[in-house]
Amino acid sequence: MPIKSRVRTVPHYPKPGILFRDITTVLKDPVGLRLTVDELARRYRDMKIDKIAGIESRGFILAAPLAYVLGKGFVPIRKKGKLPAATIGHDYELEYGSDRIEIHTDAIEKGERVLLVDDLIATGGTAQAACILIEKMGGQIVECAFMIDLPDIGGRARLEQGGHTVFALCEFEGD
Ligand code: AMP
Repeated sequence: MPIKSRVRTVPHYPKPGILFRDITTVLKDPVGLRLTVDELARRYRDMKIDKIAGIESRGFILAAPLAYVLGKGFVPIRKKGKLPAATIGHDYELEYGSDRIEIHTDAIEKGERVLLVDDLIATGGTAQAACILIEKMGGQIVECAFMIDLPDIGGRARLEQGGHTVFALCEFEGD
């Protein structure tokens, strides 16, 4: 498990009871970074993909090199108010309160096939909101790809129930 073994777990961050899965220890290691991007590239090289969308901010770190290696365009999906041109957004519920993500209205053409990338899937709320945005623009989600899945929290099941397929390079049981 060369990727999983490089992930650092930080207990009680950002608040008590959370086990934060820190990918900086994978990224700082040239082997870890290369394995991550290469493994994703191997999976997606032969799939028909037009754009790779990354979710702010850790999703950018994986989506951009993957887009570069595969020769595809990279599209950022950002938190509220960060994108400079015209956007559409989607509000989604968090454990406490709500959040909003946005995408430029010219980021995806109708009918384009989009791979969605983030570092980790927990509840799946963020990825589901991103899928809704991409589909609102007429994009088709090829798959949702993550470095880490926390399957016991149920995000994968949630995305699959919504008709999306999910791929993760490693899983951590529990939360
Ligand atoms: P969710 O919408 O619940 O699937 O949360 C996904 C987002 O929150 C991802 O962008 C992760 O970066 C971050 N996240 C949620 N839980 C964790 C965790 N235990 N460790 C690290 N990042 C997390």
